[in-house]
Amino acid sequence: MYEHDTIAAIATPPGQGGVAVIRVSGADAERIVRQLFLPRPSWEKLHSHHFYLGKILEQPNGQPIDHAGLILMRAPHSYTGEHIAELHLHGGSFLTRRVLETILNQGARPAQPGEFTKRAFLNGRLDLIQAEAVLDLIHANNETGLQLAWEGLSGRLSQACSAIRDRLITQTAYLEAFIDFPEDDISEHSQQELSAAFSSIRSDIETLAATFSQGKVYRDGIRTAIIGKPNVGKSSLLNLLADTERAIVTQVPGTTRDVLEESVLVNGLPLVVQDTAGIRRTTDEIEKIGIERSLSSIEQAEIILALFDLSRPFDADDALICEKIQGKKCILVGNKSDLPQKFDAAHLVDNLDIEAPRILHIAALYGTGMEDLGNRIQEVALGQGRPGESATGPYKGVMITKIRHKVALERAAASVQCAEQGLAASLPLDLVAVDLRASLDHIGAITGQVSSEEILDRVFQEFCIGK
Ligand code: GDP
Repeated sequence: MYEHDTIAAIATPPGQGGVAVIRVSGADAERIVRQLFLPRPSWEKLHSHHFYLGKILEQPNGQPIDHAGLILMRAPHSYTGEHIAELHLHGGSFLTRRVLETILNQGARPAQPGEFTKRAFLNGRLDLIQAEAVLDLIHANNETGLQLAWEGLSGRLSQACSAIRDRLITQTAYLEAFIDFPEDDISEHSQQELSAAFSSIRSDIETLAATFSQGKVYRDGIRTAIIGKPNVGKSSLLNLLADTERAIVTQVPGTTRDVLEESVLVNGLPLVVQDTAGIRRTTDEIEKIGIERSLSSIEQAEIILALFDLSRPFDADDALICEKIQGKKCILVGNKSDLPQKFDAAHLVDNLDIEAPRILHIAALYGTGMEDLGNRIQEVALGQGRPGESATGPYKGVMITKIRHKVALERAAASVQCAEQGLAASLPLDLVAVDLRASLDHIGAITGQVSSEEILDRVFQEFCIGK
């Protein structure tokens, strides 16, 4: 077992709530909690994985300060694989902090962010993919994101990586047999077999790596900016997107910003949409600040919805919008299609460097044209792919969401490709084997079979304290 000191943290969010949970993990967890928790039955009668009521006694005076619950989860059958004592208190922040302080005074150390999960990994309770999936589960803000996190946690991606690893190990062993018995010169037939096996493994690794572009979309949402001159209907469109899908997940409080951000679902795709301040040429200093922010929102956006007002003639402000969206991934939208039309789309040809700009007509006020807009967003966001598309073949249904996984898979594929090239160029087989072993290490880094402090620090620093 991974031996360490005993750590403690409040596992529930700060503030007031019905219940607050303090988690203590390590060899001393039970001894420490004994000092401040008086269970109804005596301590000697407590079983692992049972919930007991009792009192929290303030130290050192022994005064009761709360009715609380305790669950002991004795090693190795716990989240961390160590002894865990979990106290369920009434959820006041002062009370909870007070109890945590007492626990720390009894010898526990405050847990680092993600340290419980890191211990679970180090004790073999979870692999690295599953540990990362815990974080995704916490952060999931849409159904597909949640599903993907669950697949990570339930081990589907781990199984896919293990299957690739097994195939690589088989091929490495096969290759090494030739190295160990050089008198059995590798026949052309064996060489072809090896080469075909390498290429099939590489193609499967590449297929898995390619699911990242979609996986990331579902995990993080697509940063989308709605831009246009003032009064073109930007806010109306944002409200419509948010209302119709009834899926506003967060509304980032924007105290000092003029960019309002909402998470919405369009055709099942999570978008993080920014409604920006109207862009136009102005001398007003305050308005200029808002416009600067809109421009920076354009820079960060993955997709831009450029809005034009069909009821007004194309003007210099529209030309400015065209200038700002040059070369960006952009959907041109004509709003107010319900009003008499005065907008001449031919101006878009002159102002954008596109031969036949495709402009979608909508009326944000009435919700007209939203289906087309949704389809277009899906097309632009996912390319030719369908939502939910994932790996095919042996890893069907698996999708990766982490850049760390993508990079490792790409490196693994590149190493297999080097092995293929080495084989084709009749390089010494031990050199070919070096490339295969490198690819094994890259795959092993995904699940954590091969890991370094640096990888672990990077993975666990994203967690919150108490997880
Ligand atoms: P923004 O300044 O670009 O955010 O524009 P708003 O969303 O505030 O809309 C400006 C005005 O245009 C408001 O009075 C809206 O009601 C109106 N408007 C927005 N979309 C439409 C539409 O599709 N048809 C009509 N007739 N009016 C619209």
